[in-house]
Amino acid sequence: MTQTFLARTIASCFMIFSGPGRAFAARLKRKTIVMLVLAVLSAGGLLFCTASGAGQASGPADQAATDQAAADSGEAPDPADDSLWELPVFMVLQEHPRPGEPITVIYVPAESQNDTDFRAVLTRSGERPISRGVFFEYFRTQGGRPVSAALLTVPSTLDSGEALIHIEGQTGIAGSRRVTVEPRDFVSETIPLNESNTAIRTVPDPQKTREAELLWSIITHTGVDIYTEEPFSAPVSSTRRTSFFGDRRIYAYSDGRSESSVHAGIDYGVPTGTDVLACAPGKTVLAAFRIVTGNTVIIEHLPGVYSLYYHMDRLLVEEGSLTERGTLLGQSGSTGLATGPHLHWEIRVSGENTDPDMMMLRPLLDKDFILSKINSEARAVDSQEARNSYQTEGR
Ligand SMILES: [Zn+2]
Repeated sequence: MTQTFLARTIASCFMIFSGPGRAFAARLKRKTIVMLVLAVLSAGGLLFCTASGAGQASGPADQAATDQAAADSGEAPDPADDSLWELPVFMVLQEHPRPGEPITVIYVPAESQNDTDFRAVLTRSGERPISRGVFFEYFRTQGGRPVSAALLTVPSTLDSGEALIHIEGQTGIAGSRRVTVEPRDFVSETIPLNESNTAIRTVPDPQKTREAELLWSIITHTGVDIYTEEPFSAPVSSTRRTSFFGDRRIYAYSDGRSESSVHAGIDYGVPTGTDVLACAPGKTVLAAFRIVTGNTVIIEHLPGVYSLYYHMDRLLVEEGSLTERGTLLGQSGSTGLATGPHLHWEIRVSGENTDPDMMMLRPLLDKDFILSKINSEARAVDSQEARNSYQTEGR
């Protein structure tokens, strides 16, 4: 307990010299700082001795000790207190992502930063952008400072190794962070297609092109609405999967030719008529028949984050309607390009195929976690500066 109390006293002493007080502290001579630190340390020790007595406050000093103990008994300082933050804040929440994994990037520009329209871009040095996400305002701190987030995904086809996340504004790159893409294996499968399924994939059709363009324009749009901050749920109760995310596929056409493809979602092998449920709260942005994907629903959940449901027998939602987790969207079937009844469930983040299992594992946005991470980094900076000043004094 002594150590905890002293640690808190020391920590609060350091906080005096952070945030707005930093400039003032920088002007003080180092010797003065050390004397102040010693004074607070000895006061802390004194207060602790008193507080550890019978606990009966009888004078101003004792009352101060009681007040201090009461204050200390609470949690850490409010994490939304941005006066302690070192700006700019630039954090990549997944530093070792796997192919198919979504990445959350947090950015709080310095107040002098005039640039706007920031994007987070995944790239390898010297190469063109691999994937990107547009920053949107996630929330404001108590001090009114906007905390922005961008969501993007490591493509399932990306090789393992070092990569970079740039923050790009209109005037150039505002910062870079290194990430390490971990290796991952995927299933390979060959799928023979009959004549009509072969035609769906290979015969040119202006309607198919229009549908592809519309779908692409929907899933690459980054809105502003945050409908959920929870992990996603599976869209059917069955756990029987007939294809997996990222499967390397070869479509064997009826005329003997073939084409390779990567499976963008999970296939659940469920009978026609199985209820299909929304995986999370959101807004229905498409509910229509499409040539390739049959009866299709698309739901927007977060800026740039969509869930897609294909091949349904019938649709039971309307475009524009809001969904809760578990809202009935329709019943599964085998419409469009399907070799049997199943539900294809897919997640897109800023246009990129994203592993649905990772969306069920953790939320992309978690305010408490983000604030605590910003604050722990701010504290680490403060402690390092304090240690440096002690070391300099000690010589
Ligand atoms: Zn599928």
